[in-house]
Amino acid sequence: MGKKDVMKRFVIDYDLPLDKFVIELDRFIQLSVEAESVMPLPIELGNGESLLGQVAFLNSMLNCKTCNAPCCKEDTAVEKEGIGILDCEIAAFELNNYNIPLNKLGTKHAISYPCPLLTSDDRCRAYDIRPLACMLFPFQPGGTTEDGKQLLSVSHGCPSAREIVKQTYINLWRLIHRMEVVMAELHPKNQAKQAQK
Ligand code: SF4
Ligand code: SF4
Repeated sequence: MGKKDVMKRFVIDYDLPLDKFVIELDRFIQLSVEAESVMPLPIELGNGESLLGQVAFLNSMLNCKTCNAPCCKEDTAVEKEGIGILDCEIAAFELNNYNIPLNKLGTKHAISYPCPLLTSDDRCRAYDIRPLACMLFPFQPGGTTEDGKQLLSVSHGCPSAREIVKQTYINLWRLIHRMEVVMAELHPKNQAKQAQK
């Protein structure tokens, strides 16, 4: 198994105390960035509709306003091909007088990269009609659980998504540990088990 594949599984020990857990998490995130790997969130991919809801929710947590948009100009994963664009999206661009050069991508098309629609102050000139590929970024499939289930993941290249990954795992650690205490209180038989930890 290659380094990238190891990163996609992101196996973290929730039994670690929080300080050690955060150190381990930072190490995973750093290794993912170095390996240019996606970073999985602890969210299993469901059907298309629930996935869109999850992405819409997570997207609202991105801090794009204060970001210098590396996704539009320096993501090594897209540099060669450009940004995939569908025929209906090309039509919308033309309708709005965005005449940008497109590359051929097999039978499809791609916007060249770095993207010519990025302004000098790192804003998207065509934000409201940007391609689906841009709307979904940095969320994508790619990570898996230990038993091979697909996880919603983020690109290593988005600083805001790296923070979302970190905070999500820390929140999950807190919830898991609190639930153990609550369950032990509700079910006294488990108290002994909890005390042994
Ligand atoms: S890199 Fe992430 S935070 Fe920055 S503009 Fe792109 S999606 Fe937004
Ligand atoms: S269309 Fe807009 S969001 Fe997409 S890469 Fe270009 S500038 Fe960025």
